[in-house]
Amino acid sequence: MGLFSSKPEMKKGDMVYAWTNDQDIAKKAECGGAVTTLLKYALENKMVDAVLVIKRGQDIYDAVPTLVTDPKDLKDTAGSLHCGTVLLANVVKKRFNGAKTMKIGMTVKGCDLMALQELAKRKEVNLDNLLLIGVNCGGTVSPIMARYMITEKYGVNPDSVHKEEIDKGQFIIEYEGGHKGISIDELEEEGFGRRTNCRRCLYKVPRQADLACGNWGVIGEKAGKATFVEVCSDKGADLLSKAVKGGALATEAPIPKGIEIRGKVEGAMLKLGEKWRKKDFARLGKDPWTMINKETSRCIKCYSCIENCPVCFPVAESLKKSYMIEPGQVPPNPMFHLRRFAHISDSCVNCGQCEELCAMDIPLALFSHAIRAESDVSFEPKLGKPAYSN
Ligand SMILES: Cc1cc2nc3c(=O)[nH]c(=O)nc-3n(C[C@H](O)[C@H](O)[C@H](O)COP(=O)(O)OP(=O)(O)OC[C@H]3O[C@@H](n4cnc5c(N)ncnc54)[C@H](O)[C@@H]3O)c2cc1C
Repeated sequence: MGLFSSKPEMKKGDMVYAWTNDQDIAKKAECGGAVTTLLKYALENKMVDAVLVIKRGQDIYDAVPTLVTDPKDLKDTAGSLHCGTVLLANVVKKRFNGAKTMKIGMTVKGCDLMALQELAKRKEVNLDNLLLIGVNCGGTVSPIMARYMITEKYGVNPDSVHKEEIDKGQFIIEYEGGHKGISIDELEEEGFGRRTNCRRCLYKVPRQADLACGNWGVIGEKAGKATFVEVCSDKGADLLSKAVKGGALATEAPIPKGIEIRGKVEGAMLKLGEKWRKKDFARLGKDPWTMINKETSRCIKCYSCIENCPVCFPVAESLKKSYMIEPGQVPPNPMFHLRRFAHISDSCVNCGQCEELCAMDIPLALFSHAIRAESDVSFEPKLGKPAYSN
């Protein structure tokens, strides 16, 4: 396969199989290593000042957001961590001044992307300074659930697992002495599996990034060895074209059957997301207020849900001073939660951070997502479907 096996000039809408020419990256990459190679190319050629990625920490359950400024260090960041539940958008806002003072190249899942867009609307992030390499995302598993599930369902010591992957609908682990895969459907029917907000997500291919990269649709001899890249912006086309011309990446046209399969898998995942919405939202019953009231009565008013929400954080100060909410009262008056839900009713991105980081395990994402999903339905007849759907 030649270095320029597909045309070097790309444009928005193009799709290619891409793979790295860097052997160190190839060894660690999830599939073709295109993501790491593109980020490395952008950093080496000063298209960005730094790269923000997720790196494996102590073990496979430890996903560490990492800012890289030396291109040589990028090879250690290749590979997908499905037990990483960090919202990278918040890291950009809180740790890197919303990319207002430096250009950052970064990987984004659908939730990261939607959160960045909401943060940009609130002037917390400068999207012009971001180069967004999207990764398709079928969902993440919380590290705590992953350890529990591997112990209980797989019958394996979670500390002996050195690799995990999601392939053909299975969550697969490799551990000392073997490997085992169980279908995600089976896991989830039994209460294991992906985070509940990920199950309900309808944004699997992040087409509002500059490039959308994944493994769906790579078939034939390149299966497992190439990344499927869809070009989503002029910025993405420019980066991909330059990386190919510069010899960092090789590409070829995707097999038409592969494109068809990718579309079908995406469609099946969207249907699954709809199924989980129906199932989860039905839990709210005919009198959602009773459930919301009961669950939020555990609230200790730590403000974690607000401070970690990429949408409602600006209301923190007004809630602290609100005449509707008595200071120091725990659990707070239900108005505390009502104000929050009202504030995010048309912009919750279903990232799940409120629920994930709630000290009292209140199913906050379920409530806010149900409200957002309902408001989408009411706006749809006038505005059409949102450009993305969370
Ligand atoms: C949680 C998750 C779920 C995915 N589900 C699907 C799927 O259902 N279908 C599909 O086609 N593709 C999916 N992907 C994308 C796929 O696994 C590869 O990331 C993609 O094909 C790029 O491969 P690569 O070899 O070019 O990437 P590499 O060169 O190996 O680079 C991977 C990059 O992803 C970053 N990364 C790792 N974990 C995370 C994380 N949790 N959040 C954000 N960035 C991360 C790494 O830092 C690295 O920069 C998923 C990825 C993740 C992270």
